[in-house]
Amino acid sequence: MDCVFCKIAKGEIPAKVVYEDDEVISFYDINPKAPVHVLVIPKRHFTNLMEEIPPPVASAILRGIRETVKKLGVRDYRVISNNGRGAGQEVFHLHFHVIAGITISPATV
Ligand code: 5GP
Ligand code: ZN
Repeated sequence: MDCVFCKIAKGEIPAKVVYEDDEVISFYDINPKAPVHVLVIPKRHFTNLMEEIPPPVASAILRGIRETVKKLGVRDYRVISNNGRGAGQEVFHLHFHVIAGITISPATV
């Protein structure tokens, strides 16, 4: 499948990785919209939250967010997921923006 985030998950495209385990990987957004802007993704491909996410994967994503934030040394942060083109989703592999260091409107992410 021609999916840029699947390629990052497999190490086929380089990324600045923050956290990784068997289920999840997080890496800096290539085009940051805030001082801290990291993407947390499941390694398995899901288009977005409208697909059924198995509970172990959902749990791993939440753990991945926690571990990412710990590694970043950030205390206060936002988590945003754009679902669907109309909401600004450009990469159709489920991902969560972890954003810190600035107050922005979610619509601009
Ligand atoms: P979306 O708009 O789909 O919610 O967010 C996709 C995000 O992925 C954007 O913020 C964009 O900058 C980021 N992005 C797209 N391609 C790449 C890439 O190849 N590497 C990294 N690190 N980020 C990417
Ligand atoms: Zn994918």
